[in-house]
Amino acid sequence: MTAPDKRTLSQFPDLPLDNSYSRLPEHFYHRVDPTPLQAPALISLNIAVAQQLGIDPDSLNPEQLALYFGGHKNLPGSNPLAMKYTGHQFGVYNPQLGDGRGLLLGELVAPDQRRWDLHLKGSGKTHYSRFGDGRAVLRSSIREYLISAAMQGLGIPTTQALCIVGSEEKAMRDGMPEPCATLLRVTECHIRFGHFEHFYHSQRYDDLRQLSDYCLARYFPEYQAHPNPPLAMLEEVIRRSAYLVAQWQAYGFVHGVMNTDNMSLIGETFDYGPYQFMDEYKPHTISNHSDHQGRYAFQHQPDVMRWNLYRLAQCFVPLVADDGIEAKKQLEEALDRYHGLYNHYYYSKVSQRLGLDNHTDQPHEQHTAIETAPETRREEQSLIDDLMALLASQQADMTLFFRLLSEQAISQQYQTLQQITPRPQAFEHWLNRYHQHLTELSLTPHQEEQRQQQMKQINPVYLLRNYMAQDIIEATEKGDFTLINQLLPILMQPFIYHKQLAQYAGPAPDWAAGICLTCSS
Ligand code: AMP
Ligand code: MG
Repeated sequence: MTAPDKRTLSQFPDLPLDNSYSRLPEHFYHRVDPTPLQAPALISLNIAVAQQLGIDPDSLNPEQLALYFGGHKNLPGSNPLAMKYTGHQFGVYNPQLGDGRGLLLGELVAPDQRRWDLHLKGSGKTHYSRFGDGRAVLRSSIREYLISAAMQGLGIPTTQALCIVGSEEKAMRDGMPEPCATLLRVTECHIRFGHFEHFYHSQRYDDLRQLSDYCLARYFPEYQAHPNPPLAMLEEVIRRSAYLVAQWQAYGFVHGVMNTDNMSLIGETFDYGPYQFMDEYKPHTISNHSDHQGRYAFQHQPDVMRWNLYRLAQCFVPLVADDGIEAKKQLEEALDRYHGLYNHYYYSKVSQRLGLDNHTDQPHEQHTAIETAPETRREEQSLIDDLMALLASQQADMTLFFRLLSEQAISQQYQTLQQITPRPQAFEHWLNRYHQHLTELSLTPHQEEQRQQQMKQINPVYLLRNYMAQDIIEATEKGDFTLINQLLPILMQPFIYHKQLAQYAGPAPDWAAGICLTCSS
């Protein structure tokens, strides 16, 4: 994120919000004001996000932020609304969903003309709250706040969060009172797969088309001139979703609740719940303790994403062609490309992490043909598959392993391995193959230096591990905001080592294995 020129930044709260979503028909949402949070107090503010919005950080004062984002005052031009959507939860269609505890306050157009949704999470009851209290607890708000920054730091597409506001108000979770909070979520897109599912499954095809037109105009304007704009948009959503899940797999991230109402149309990690970065690489890891079947286990995520995209593609049948059979054929063809795209993005990213490959794989670029010779590519893929199988069999820490390869001279890698695995000899054969592969690249000393530098830009020192989030939650719940504010910038630049935070750069402590994550938030 590059900071805009200070002269272009506005004073808070002078920037009036716009509300393009509220110009859609009234039945797309329900208007309601936030319910004020008792005794709101600012806990943390992400200055980089403020700058991205075009707000001068010097104009942000904590008391004012607490009033605006604790639900006591509306921003100029704000027109708060709860969006209606539905979705497939654990494989079952649920028509009852919608923003049950969050409100779209409005849209802020930054100096660079990007239009950002400001969404207040934990803002009180709406039409869609069902039996819920409309609140979010401090614990889950901190987790979303931190992971938004951490994903941004790693370069993984994500929603962001401007600030977190605490309160003396309590909400009951699992029979215990917990402190409430609000989180100001910032992203260009709050459209979920479930927005399309709502209109498709209620057979409101005119509304479906209106939603599609809105999304094309706002998120994919380049496809408006395409011969079949909805199809082109869906193909792009498939590509971005394949890119996204490939990043999760390449960094050991478990989303936890990949329901279609938690899937973003623009391919960002969205609606964080019981997520985790794995400490030990265990592909069967289930992050959400209520996911008894392991539907959303780490190793299933690429297939689940495809299943979710299938649900979305189904909604596009009436949009893509008048003839349902023809529409299905075109959509199936688009979906058939998912696995190839996923593999391309996944192997590219892990190759880069291993310093084997520096070709670009950004989500917003067209998918170009891979230029590496096929046999080199095959060898790279087999190296990667074998490494992942090895990390899994040894239950080794993937993050520490990749950082070790980036930091240590080749001659020392084997020795240093002892610090992260009790059985370094299990890695010996693989390391020899890896070193052999590097030798065959015949790099000059300068190129080798560059290769190592690039690896350090992609293999983090710091990762938001569960136990770190837990430490921060416990300190914050006691009223100590030092740790959250100290670690936030570290997570946003996770590739830089900080001596004073060395304790967070190593393996997780043993107690981390006992942390229990649930959907209750
Ligand atoms: P989530 O598990 O956070 O993705 O939420 C699933 C659905 O339940 C969404 O429609 C939420 O708005 C709603 N929901 C979750 N927690 C609450 C709550 N405390 N109060 C009201 N609605 C909620
Ligand atoms: Mg959700």
